Amino acid sequence: MARAENTELIDRFEQFYRNYYRNEIGELAQSYPNEKRSLYINWNDLYQYDADIADDYLAQPQQLQEYAEEALRLYDLPVDVSLGQAHVRLQNLPEHTDIRAIRARHVNTMVSVQGIIRKATGVRPKIQEAAFECQRCGTLTYIPQSGGDFQEPHECQGCERQGPFRINFDQSEFIDSQKLRVQESPEGLRGGETPQSIDVHIEDDITGHVSPGDHVTVTGVLHLEQQGSGQEKSAVFDVYMEGVSVEIEDEEFEDMDITDEDKEQIIELSNEGNIYEQMVDSIAPAIYGYDQEKLAMILQLFSGVTKHLPDGSRIRGDLHMLLIGDPGTGKSQMLSYIQHIAPRSVYTSGKGSSSAGLTAAAVRDDFGDGQQWTLEAGALVLADKGIAAVDELDKMSPEDRSAMHEGLEQQKISVSKAGINATLKSRCSLLGAANPKYGRFDQYESIGEQINLEPALISRFDLIFTVTDKPDPDHDSQLAEHILQTNFAGELNTQRTEINAPNITEEQVNSQTEEVAPAIDAELLRKYIAYAKSNVYPTMTEEAREAIRDFYVDLRSKGTDEDAPIPVTARKLEALVRLAEASARVRLSDTVERKDADRVIEIVRSCLQDIGVD
Ligand code: ADP
Ligand code: MG
Repeated sequence: MARAENTELIDRFEQFYRNYYRNEIGELAQSYPNEKRSLYINWNDLYQYDADIADDYLAQPQQLQEYAEEALRLYDLPVDVSLGQAHVRLQNLPEHTDIRAIRARHVNTMVSVQGIIRKATGVRPKIQEAAFECQRCGTLTYIPQSGGDFQEPHECQGCERQGPFRINFDQSEFIDSQKLRVQESPEGLRGGETPQSIDVHIEDDITGHVSPGDHVTVTGVLHLEQQGSGQEKSAVFDVYMEGVSVEIEDEEFEDMDITDEDKEQIIELSNEGNIYEQMVDSIAPAIYGYDQEKLAMILQLFSGVTKHLPDGSRIRGDLHMLLIGDPGTGKSQMLSYIQHIAPRSVYTSGKGSSSAGLTAAAVRDDFGDGQQWTLEAGALVLADKGIAAVDELDKMSPEDRSAMHEGLEQQKISVSKAGINATLKSRCSLLGAANPKYGRFDQYESIGEQINLEPALISRFDLIFTVTDKPDPDHDSQLAEHILQTNFAGELNTQRTEINAPNITEEQVNSQTEEVAPAIDAELLRKYIAYAKSNVYPTMTEEAREAIRDFYVDLRSKGTDEDAPIPVTARKLEALVRLAEASARVRLSDTVERKDADRVIEIVRSCLQDIGVD
């Protein structure tokens, strides 16, 4: 761009600041450089002022950022300070780019993405300008360090020899830097897609403010980085982002658009007499039976009410449940179905696919260049405010096992290792599946003894279902019929859609599928749950309270054997309350009634009976 044009643009920015950001710049000048070092600009303001400049800012961000920052330095301040190193940080871009949609054409432009922080390194000083002191003559040679590789001087500026040099730290300039990995939010993914992520490099005042598990909107400029190094350099490049601003989002179900029509439909549905049956029939319809397990999964989706006590402590409203049983009984199928209906969920295996496992970990890997420690969020943190479906829970690592205790009850996970001290939120419900101790239940040993988890962990589950696979002619024939029917419907549908079989109509498929279609459409159910969770906070009626109290006292009088694998503790009482609240929420009811209490007592009783308590 021509020189005249530069000054013109800088003038335009100065005028923009005077019109729109006079107060903000005044405040910045007051607290610069200790508390504030950035001027945040709303893209909409810039667009209103000058649409061309606003568009150019996104298309040629580096150039425009320079003008914007130069204008800030030239700005006439009422107080006598210089905003020499202040940053201009653009926010609130007109649209969000999906992480998985980032392509070569986006490189060198400014975009904003939404997601969850998966990994974050510690905040480390990064050299910006290195002062090399010549060991022969003592002259300082200053080399700016802008790229990724460390640049050394070719020769000393004083004696023109090749050193040797020593870095003079006092005369060098450092800036705080941090690297983040932002991954697509669980709620943005449909049906178990593998989440994609992008790495973000940030500097100075915006470092150190986010933790793994935080939901964020990140705005920044996309750059390329060549894969491999030295002789191994590849023709393929990685895209990373130079972050300009990182905003923490409210973790509620922000993506859920519930229209007035949806709301009407939800309320109408909630008044139907058979709403519980409809809900049950909407969970994994291809899996035959398991009505009680499915009802429990529904209650888990709705969850109880989290209580904040006056003394600052809290009682979780989230329900944890475990399916433990013989192989091939449909556990994995039911677990993975959760992804279709939970507004936010993470599905994983206890064996763990990432180094962070189920909870969180401080790891030293390529992300921190092999030297820095990185804090990485595991499934329970990524599922914050949602459901973590963990298959093969019995195979989790020993580290996860111990971190899990805190994660499930206090709903936070503390990591303290290698100078990283952090507490991550894990306000999620755990839906676990596991096999018994010997792979399948041994009918000669009590079921309670065959659960391969320690008592402290077991006691944190609100419900434990045991599933045995015993031959039973009646049940087996119905199950067979159901599976064959499901397969037949699937075959018809495949023929119709894949090979366009002319003699198969959609009606024909539908009539066959009816039995295996969910009663409530998954999309609507997801909205229903999100609506109930953010609008309905039921309280106990006296009758419900009485029923739960009586049941609990009765249980304790029978099952307080200290050696019992599943002792009945006060946790069970809290579990009953949570379950009953969830039951009321299904009806969108503000009160927990006797029938809610009875419904959940029935479930708890049968679970305990199966394990051998009672
Ligand atoms: P698990 O995780 O308990 O070992 P899976 O969920 O992998 O079992 O199920 C194995 C297979 O058996 C799946 O294809 C599943 O659909 C089928 N199956 C098991 N139980 C049922 C059931 N009750 N109804 C329908 N299909 C079932
Ligand atoms: Mg399985």
